[in-house]
Amino acid sequence: MNETDTKVVGALEDGGPVTAPPPDLVAAARALLPRAQAGEDVGGLARDLALAARAAGDAEGECSALYSAMASAALQGQVARSRDIAAEILERGSEAGLPGWEATGRQYLARMQLEEGHEDLALTQLVTAELLLDDREPDVGLVVALNGIAVAYSRIGLHEDSERTYSRLAEVVLEAGDGWAVKAFVHNRLLNQSAWGVALAQAGFEDEAQERLGIASKQAQQAIDMTGSSAEYDFGALCLFADLMAGKLGLQEAREKRHAMLEHSLGEPLSYLRFAFAHLLSNAGRWDEARSEVDAGFEVVNPTEREPIRSALVWERARIAVMEYPDHPGVADVWRFAQMASQKIWQLRRRRMEAVQGKLRVARMQREHERIERVSLEDPLTGTANRRRIDRERASLLSTPSAGWATVMYLDIDRFKVANDQYGHELGDAVLRQVARLLATNVRDGDLVGRYGGDEFVILAAHCPPDDAQQLSERILSAIRGYDWSELQPDLAIRVSLGLAVTRTRLAQLFPAADEALYRAKRAGRDRAELTVIGSDDEELVEA
Ligand code: GH3
Ligand code: MG
Repeated sequence: MNETDTKVVGALEDGGPVTAPPPDLVAAARALLPRAQAGEDVGGLARDLALAARAAGDAEGECSALYSAMASAALQGQVARSRDIAAEILERGSEAGLPGWEATGRQYLARMQLEEGHEDLALTQLVTAELLLDDREPDVGLVVALNGIAVAYSRIGLHEDSERTYSRLAEVVLEAGDGWAVKAFVHNRLLNQSAWGVALAQAGFEDEAQERLGIASKQAQQAIDMTGSSAEYDFGALCLFADLMAGKLGLQEAREKRHAMLEHSLGEPLSYLRFAFAHLLSNAGRWDEARSEVDAGFEVVNPTEREPIRSALVWERARIAVMEYPDHPGVADVWRFAQMASQKIWQLRRRRMEAVQGKLRVARMQREHERIERVSLEDPLTGTANRRRIDRERASLLSTPSAGWATVMYLDIDRFKVANDQYGHELGDAVLRQVARLLATNVRDGDLVGRYGGDEFVILAAHCPPDDAQQLSERILSAIRGYDWSELQPDLAIRVSLGLAVTRTRLAQLFPAADEALYRAKRAGRDRAELTVIGSDDEELVEA
């Protein structure tokens, strides 16, 4: 266990950490989960909560409530309904800018697709969900989503990907999850370690299998020590499973311990326990007992959690036959075939894992590429378009003549050098940033604001006829004049000069005309705008 893991297990001690309590609706929604798990149909209650949260504009609360509704529907066997709710969570999470919840919807849909045998679709969904969670701040949605993704990877047999996701979860679960989430995390991670160990044994990698099961045993033991209970979250059953598989217990001792565990274990941990016990019995030559143990294991496998314990049970029955009839040539043949099939499955698993890694790598590279592209077009000081971007937009404007009016506005700060020299470069930078902010808030969506360099800015406005251009210049002049510059420096008053050009047809003249208009504004005394309308026939000058 690394340091984070130790902290996680430590937090189990008092039933959970954590940070400040979540908002009321989120807490109310999450309180429904244990009731749903105990078999109560809380779908209606969860729905009401979701509606209330929606009315209150609380998207986090709404998604939490929908999640409880989804869990309840799933536990009630209403598969189609839970799928619909998952799609709803995906949509609401995406609309509300809550990637954690969008990813939760996706990972749940992925698990449904897995059940239906659409593994490729499911993998794409899972990878998309994982990417959504890159750089996310820790919150409940992140914890729930990472947990779901890790569980789904484990079900496909991608135990390494599952463990990678659990390691990330370990870093955030204490901060953002509640006690329930922490225990569920430890439980699910243990299940993955167990499944991993069994899968390795099945594929013939005994040493690696023992190593995994050793880790599982240690983690389970720590969880038991800290919670002070082996009943909780079946930590005891999972620990015993690992110890049985590692051959740590004799048959008699195993029988006694197993008896206690069978009382309260259910679902997957119970089938793991039965599997391990069958393993021990068959190693001891007790074929019939071993077989009935496997069959009992089959009975408790949850239909929505078939893999990978189901194939392990099938494998164990075959193994019993081989051990019981070691000299039977037919049995040996069938076993050879089974081993071949196991190898094939292992190869397939490896290829799937490579596909997942490949998809993640490509998507992350693409994202990095987009980031670099974005940065390369941005002025680092003000965050507006840089010269490269302006030139690019300028070229595209000039090469696609449109029927509408286009406006270019140049802005140059008046006597900026004086302010710079008097108060220093840092103050100058602050002024440039503030000018950029004032420009950005005074243009329409779709207009481009950029900085050519120095104290010179530009605005490109498509579909902007002369009247609108005139209003734009007035808006900007008064925004600059109206801003309280003394906030940056007592006695500071920044003013700017503007040169505008507007045309419908003569795009080639647009930029030189704006430049010339700016020059006129400076010459005429600064703190003003000059506007040139370039007509289709004559060039008219309009004083602003
Ligand atoms: P005018 O009214 O004629 O435009 O006078 P001006 O002083 O603004 O004109 P000039 O072009 O001479 O000065 C621009 C100044 O902008 C020069 C330089 O000190 C300053 N400057 C250029 N780039 C930056 C920058 O990135 N940060 C800061 N703080 N100052 C800059
Ligand atoms: Mg200047």
